[in-house]
Amino acid sequence: MTFYRSVCPPDYPDACGLLVEVKNSKVTKVNGDPQHPYTKGFICAKMRSYPDLIHSPKRILEPLKRNGLKGSGIFTPISWEEALATIASK
Ligand code: SF4
Repeated sequence: MTFYRSVCPPDYPDACGLLVEVKNSKVTKVNGDPQHPYTKGFICAKMRSYPDLIHSPKRILEPLKRNGLKGSGIFTPISWEEALATIASK
C-alpha cells in the first residue's frame, strides 16, 4: 500500500489536499491531507467516494457518439481522433 499526496481535481477554489491510498495499482481510499495549509484534512463526501467512481464498471472510458435522437440513449464508440476532429469542427 502506497500513499500519494494530491489535490482534488474539480476546479474548486479551495482545491482540497488529498492523501490517496493505492493498493495493487488501484485507488482504495481518499482522505484529506492534514498538512494542506488551507483545507487541513477536510474533504467532502463526494471525494470520499471517489474510488468507487473511478473504478466503476459503468465508467465511460472511450468517446461515444450519439446515434439517433437526443435522449434515445444509443451511442457508438468512436476513436479519440474522430471525437477531437468532430468537436474541433463545431
Ligand atoms: S474535496 Fe470536495 S469540497 Fe474539496 S475541492 Fe474536492 S469536491 Fe471540492
